[in-house]
Amino acid sequence: MELRDLLDSRIRDVPDWPKPGVVFKDISPMLADPEAFAALVDALAEQCSAAGVDKVVGIEARGFILAAPVAYRAGAGFVPVRKQGKLPCATYAQSYDLEYGSATLEVHQDAFAPGERVLVIDDVLATGGTVAATIDLVRRTGAEVAGVSVLLELGFLPGRAKLAGLLPDESVRSF
Ligand code: IMP
Repeated sequence: MELRDLLDSRIRDVPDWPKPGVVFKDISPMLADPEAFAALVDALAEQCSAAGVDKVVGIEARGFILAAPVAYRAGAGFVPVRKQGKLPCATYAQSYDLEYGSATLEVHQDAFAPGERVLVIDDVLATGGTVAATIDLVRRTGAEVAGVSVLLELGFLPGRAKLAGLLPDESVRSF
């Protein structure tokens, strides 16, 4: 089975969650399937190696699940971007708008050496605010964002437009 078909078959729609009118893409069945999970990690690690990346950033929380094994497989380091107040040392913080209110993400100021190349990984790209804030954070440390990889892009939302060409077409499954 093609990787995309395999992943599609392991992602389920959850209507009206977390609130009425939203169809949530639940990746739990994909994570629980050893073949699908390994195939996804291998594919992302190949992108990572091809891009000559030093560090892989995972965005809390589901981004961690994908980014950590990808970093291990590609021989890169792993860096967490976390929700406000979770990281113990000096951080940069970036706020971004949600549908209602705002959220703040943080990264350790010393997470990267100057000029290091970084791949940003998250599970789902929706409006793009989460990944765009993460790109800003990485750049503030002096590192370079080499690319963005997500498992799913909600193509009916304009998230991609916020990422300045960093999300390759072939890297994602678009719904
Ligand atoms: P954005 O900032 O609007 O692009 O939202 C992306 C963030 O929200 C990611 O960190 C995702 O984990 C989460 N997210 C948004 N929609 C979904 C979904 O349908 N399934 C799983 N996660 C989602």
